[in-house]
Amino acid sequence: MNALAQVTAYIGIGANLGDARANVQDALARLARLPGASLIAASPSYRTAPIDSSGDDYINAVARLTTTLPAEELLLALHAIEAAHGRERPYRNAPRTLDLDLLLYGDEQIASPTLTVPHPRLAERAFVLVPLLALAPAIVVPGLGPAQDYLASVADQAISQL
Ligand code: ADP
Ligand code: MG
Repeated sequence: MNALAQVTAYIGIGANLGDARANVQDALARLARLPGASLIAASPSYRTAPIDSSGDDYINAVARLTTTLPAEELLLALHAIEAAHGRERPYRNAPRTLDLDLLLYGDEQIASPTLTVPHPRLAERAFVLVPLLALAPAIVVPGLGPAQDYLASVADQAISQL
């Protein structure tokens, strides 16, 4: 792959503190302005109940980017957007103003100390699978197969489109 190759990446967006809907919309606007990336599409937003977390319902969405950024740099850019929203990490799975996860980075499988791609919990969470499949119904997750095949296993998780 040459240095300017475009990779399609999917970003999971979640918020459940403050004005969560506005935070998700602002995250999309910031992704659209990200140097080295283009926002190609965004899923609808969904309301979901917290899983392994607490507080208000979450607002979730998924964005599709094309990017020339290496995956680790894209993750740093996502962290910078979280930080701009005052994201704090007082404890694991704490409520958050904004959470941006790198779900998929082309067809790559990455396992570094700071980055695991595909996102390890991608197929277990309706709040990721449902918006991801809304954007990309035929998407295949490296190492797992078609994302569609995992929908039935999350059918017990409440999710409603806004
Ligand atoms: P979570 O999203 O699991 O609730 P955090 O957003 O606090 O938790 O992320 C914790 C750490 O997970 C980050 O500092 C980041 O380095 C790491 N991480 C590993 N893989 C990924 C990924 N695919 N997307 C986002 N963060 C990741
Ligand atoms: Mg995260």
